[in-house]
Amino acid sequence: MNVRDSDLTARRMRAAGFADAPDEDVADVVIVNSCSVREKAEDKALGKLGLLCAARRSGRRPGLVVGLTGCMANRLAENVFGLVPGLSFSVGPRSGDRIPELVDRCLAGESGLWCPDPEGATAHRAAARSENAAARCAVGDPVSRPPCSYVTILYGCNQRCSYCIVPHVRGSEESRNPRDILAEVREEVRRGARDVCLLGQSVMRYGRAGGFSWPEDIPSPMGFTEPLPRLLEFLAREEPGLTRIRFTSGHPLGVTPELVRAMREIPQVCPHLHLPMQSGSDRILRAMRRGYDRGRYMAAVRALREGVPDIAITTDVIVGYPGETDEDFELTRSAMEEAGFDNAFVFKYSPRPGTASAQLPDDVADEEKRRRDAVLLADQDARGQRINERWVGRVVEVLVEGPSLRNAERWSGRTGQNKIVVFEPPAGVAAGTSVRVKVELARPQTLYGTVVEPQELQPAE
Ligand code: SAH
Ligand code: SF4
Repeated sequence: MNVRDSDLTARRMRAAGFADAPDEDVADVVIVNSCSVREKAEDKALGKLGLLCAARRSGRRPGLVVGLTGCMANRLAENVFGLVPGLSFSVGPRSGDRIPELVDRCLAGESGLWCPDPEGATAHRAAARSENAAARCAVGDPVSRPPCSYVTILYGCNQRCSYCIVPHVRGSEESRNPRDILAEVREEVRRGARDVCLLGQSVMRYGRAGGFSWPEDIPSPMGFTEPLPRLLEFLAREEPGLTRIRFTSGHPLGVTPELVRAMREIPQVCPHLHLPMQSGSDRILRAMRRGYDRGRYMAAVRALREGVPDIAITTDVIVGYPGETDEDFELTRSAMEEAGFDNAFVFKYSPRPGTASAQLPDDVADEEKRRRDAVLLADQDARGQRINERWVGRVVEVLVEGPSLRNAERWSGRTGQNKIVVFEPPAGVAAGTSVRVKVELARPQTLYGTVVEPQELQPAE
């Protein structure tokens, strides 16, 4: 979501006539997009802003405009100007359309401008409209890597996980209209996207809250009744340039039979789901108010594995939640093994202001959090290796992204399972095309292989 928001900011600036600076050191304007989810992310943003504003105040870069956007802007409101003296402006994540205007005013000499997100649904709709407008008039390269792109389908979050600041800084759920989503998806495809990931904090809640009703004049030939399967079907049908559709983040209670069928039967929908588990201990899951226990989570995993061939499931896990014992931690370890995750993001718990769990003592020592983090990552490495080895010898369809980040002689792309595949680029290969790659080597996070000719693909009948 942050990549998406950064993209939109870049596009809005370009649409307003600004050009990309070749380097941050020579930029006239630097805008920091922030995340409040963990303390460390906020510390990094504050550190960065502090350095930039110090350069400005010391006279080294006197004209520099430094702006803040994203969740931290909402969380800190006007207080940010006390924390970061000299900050030019701060703007909430749903008010990004105001950024060019704020930059203009700061370039003209104003400073300390605070633009909060407006309250209420009307404001959310205005934000949705301006997001489309920004997508339409933009030029230049997005921050994300073509051919992959993101489109937000659900703003905010109505859940109240005990540790999470997101609902406080991103407001309540509002689902976007399917036609607005399609317009934006089309625009992304026109700009070169082939793989679009639909975003929502709890994306399976799409269309479930806030007075949303699916437009009656958009039918479902596949017979879906739930909003997310209907949306997937609608986008796949209406935009032929879209090769792949993903959605994130998932929730086990949203894994319905219809959704599983949509994943299996709509060819564009990728066999990949990010399904944050957070913990494998029922006691901790209850304390976190996640709305499911371990058994319910595993039932969702089983339904996905039975219904969607070759599906890859990835997850988020928090270690060191208040009161997490060794026994709870071991339950998380065993649950990760039981679920057989392809990949996992592990986070060390940090208390966030205003959340329910911030009232509890943060009683797992930092050293112990680091140990648990390292154990889970080592487990995941071994598991990732084992799972990826199953792909060796198989031919996979890879959507080409471009030169590999580590070695520009090699190129990389992704499979529908979201696995990174590295290969030698054949002549004429271009980002956004698909190649078939025979996998020869597996690593925990990456597959390596050789591009095969199309005729090799057809098994002799
Ligand atoms: N909406 C997503 C999560 C968004 S935040 C969902 O419900 O799955 C991304 C991840 O950050 C979460 O899944 C969680 O693992 C982690 N996280 C959130 N709050 C945290 C906190 N206070 N401390 C540590 N990790 C946290
Ligand atoms: Fe946060 Fe829970 Fe909402 Fe995810 S579902 S954004 S973890 S409150």
